[in-house]
Amino acid sequence: MSTRGGQQGQHGAEGQADEPPRRKRKSRKDEEKPLVAPAPPPPADTRAQRVLYVGCEGESTEPDYLNYLNERFGDGSLTGGRRFRIQPVYAKNGLTPARVVAQVQAKAEEDEAWALFDRDQHHDIPEALRLAAEQGTEVCFSHPSFDLWLLLHFQAFGGKRSGSSEHVVDTLRQADPAFKNFDKRNDKSVKDGRRAALKEKESAAVSHARSLVAQCEHGACKAKSTRKDRYQWEGAPERPDPLIPHSGHAVDCPVLDRDPSTDVWRLLVSLEIVDA
Ligand SMILES: [Zn+2]
Repeated sequence: MSTRGGQQGQHGAEGQADEPPRRKRKSRKDEEKPLVAPAPPPPADTRAQRVLYVGCEGESTEPDYLNYLNERFGDGSLTGGRRFRIQPVYAKNGLTPARVVAQVQAKAEEDEAWALFDRDQHHDIPEALRLAAEQGTEVCFSHPSFDLWLLLHFQAFGGKRSGSSEHVVDTLRQADPAFKNFDKRNDKSVKDGRRAALKEKESAAVSHARSLVAQCEHGACKAKSTRKDRYQWEGAPERPDPLIPHSGHAVDCPVLDRDPSTDVWRLLVSLEIVDA
């Protein structure tokens, strides 16, 4: 069973798989109907759309950001690459990392599945990684949090955070006026002005995220082209899809020690928003 490789040969559009098969009732009326040519296949363009289910730990920041990617880049006109549609999978009040993986696997079925989760103070990250590895779910781990990924659009960042996002959020609030009130009064949304502030900073964010790989304390983690690296965590499957880059961390670099780091850049490279 493969969870990658696009939707070719599978159900072409999301949602169809859930519909019960329609049984044709044989009635005399049907039999009397004139034969008609079968409906033409959907245009090649439709089938070229890549569908990704992306599980999110948070209920607003990550889904908002993924919808922003859909709206800005999904039709392929800016990237020149394949069209894509991300289906965010999340829950009210959020999910723990292992729940993120389980939920996205349940929803994605045979489609491509990714999971975004944070270090925070979670205890089930090893379980989340194991579940992901078992089914080939791609993981974008952020330490301390996804907010680091947003911050990297504006500036480089370094220094251990030990799971605390406080300093990252403070720095993000100062990095751009649109984020001045981020995470105040429960507002962790990424809409309107905040989306505008992120625009055209994707390459900078990817570059800053990859330089964190080079700075990893482990010492053998490299920010070079990571497509040739075979693993990103112990037990992870080999990836047949060359579009999906690896994190660049050495196989024996413990995930929980990658501080600070974020793998969200892998998703943007995979979607051809930013070149590898
Ligand atoms: Zn590392």
